[in-house]
Amino acid sequence: MTRFIFITGGVVSSLGKGLCSAALGALLQNRGFKVRLRKLDPYLNVDPGTMSPYQHGEVYVTDDGAETDLDLGHYERFTGVATRKSDNVTTGQIYTKVLARERRGDYLGATVQVIPHVTDAIKEFITADVTDEDFVVCEVGGTVGDIEGLPFLEAIRQMGNELGPERTLFMHVTLVPFIKAAGELKTKPTQHSVKELQGMGIKPDMLVCRAEHPIEASDRRKIAQFCNVRPEAVIPAMDVDSIYAVPQAYHAEGLDDEVLRHFKLTGGVPDLTRWDEIVRRVRQPDGAVTIGVVGKYTSLLDAYKSLAEALTHGGIANNVKVRINWLDSEIFEKEEEALHHLEEVNGILVPGGFGERGSEGKIKAAGFARTRQVPYFGICFGMQMAVIEAARSLGGLTGADSTEFGPCEDPVVGLMTEWTKGNQVERRNAAGDLGGTMRLGAYPCVLAKGSRVQEAYNGADLIYERHRHRYEVNINYRAMLEGKGLHFSGLSPDGELPEIVEIPEHPWFVGVQFHPELKSKPFEPHPLFTAFIKAAVDKARLV
Ligand code: GLN
Repeated sequence: MTRFIFITGGVVSSLGKGLCSAALGALLQNRGFKVRLRKLDPYLNVDPGTMSPYQHGEVYVTDDGAETDLDLGHYERFTGVATRKSDNVTTGQIYTKVLARERRGDYLGATVQVIPHVTDAIKEFITADVTDEDFVVCEVGGTVGDIEGLPFLEAIRQMGNELGPERTLFMHVTLVPFIKAAGELKTKPTQHSVKELQGMGIKPDMLVCRAEHPIEASDRRKIAQFCNVRPEAVIPAMDVDSIYAVPQAYHAEGLDDEVLRHFKLTGGVPDLTRWDEIVRRVRQPDGAVTIGVVGKYTSLLDAYKSLAEALTHGGIANNVKVRINWLDSEIFEKEEEALHHLEEVNGILVPGGFGERGSEGKIKAAGFARTRQVPYFGICFGMQMAVIEAARSLGGLTGADSTEFGPCEDPVVGLMTEWTKGNQVERRNAAGDLGGTMRLGAYPCVLAKGSRVQEAYNGADLIYERHRHRYEVNINYRAMLEGKGLHFSGLSPDGELPEIVEIPEHPWFVGVQFHPELKSKPFEPHPLFTAFIKAAVDKARLV
């Protein structure tokens, strides 16, 4: 029997609902239950794929090729359960479905309305693709009171009514601010938020109260009384120094115990040693390395969420702290001096990106890493920029570029118009839609025998990694580039698409067309991040 836990947020946004959901998933899993986590996003876009990272942060890609909310990254990192297309839905997708049904005549002459047609489509999504899961933790994006969120709240209210408390639980995440002038925590915003939720027919069973200061027992009782929940169901959730300390912190406050009590379940004895060890490694590293990340969206770190986490995981694997220097690639275009920033780092990473702005700076950074023997990790766009750099500097092709920026003399990176997915050929043209048309999701890659990447992947011959790109390195330049020392050490099984390049005569210079950061987990750091940080540690002569 699958039970549904609905997580809503109130008072303000950015309270860490996603982390709360992920941590709850991890704790229930730890008690022996099978979990899935889902996110309902009330915005009108069909998916976040066409949104600027400044608007939305990172686009998280699933194995089955969906472009989703970054909270799904937290879900995967905390539970290890691979997320799917069916784990994230938006208002845009719901309406697309409802309107397609209307056009087909499926509603048999009815007036199509938010209730029941839109809410039914939302409920269908929440319950779809669920088999033997004990729990589906379902996070509702936004804040209670948002106009866009209303149909979602109405849908979960109906589910609570239809399935009853044996199969549903409503958890509300709120803020308990500390007012300096009064020297006190204030519970009123929480009371108001709960009232708003109750006005929509949802009575929260549990409250997760985010606070910067400890919530005393008296405040807990007060919140319980005013909000009509048991005092044990008020979970104080203080800020912690590492996101990986969240499961332990919430467990200590009784989060999973209270959920199980609600459902009249006992569950296994909690054993958090796996999390203890991760937190120990984060808090007590043996040393530190500095990685320069040369990107475009460096002022909004949510844009590189999985990347920052994967670097931390690489540090966990090597028992070091990874400090990240976020460097705006455009500074390398304006002044040569800026390259001095790169002299201070132990490794350089150029992450995924789109568009011409800042690309020359990334090419310079790749050149710096190559010539100065600094470990280099190019991810997607970062691989493409490294190939352009090698073609220009090593191959003497001064007109080498990517067709992403317009026509060029030597298109060493070009638009991908055809590729195979399973047994099917996927085709695209330059004038097509931008949304959802990239090469997306998990694809196989054959590793070259004896390559550095094969060593990193523990000798594997075939790997699967997640993609999100429209352009590819041009295989026609392979022989020339390999002759100059840049080897194509990973290819699609048909040998047509370059997936990995590396320079064997360099301490560690690897470019990958996929996004390894999406699959990295604290308890299972991605092999390429482990190897990259190891190379940076060697560079820093820490070992
Ligand atoms: N803009 C490049 C492409 O579309 C790289 C994409 C990326 O880095 N994710 O191929």
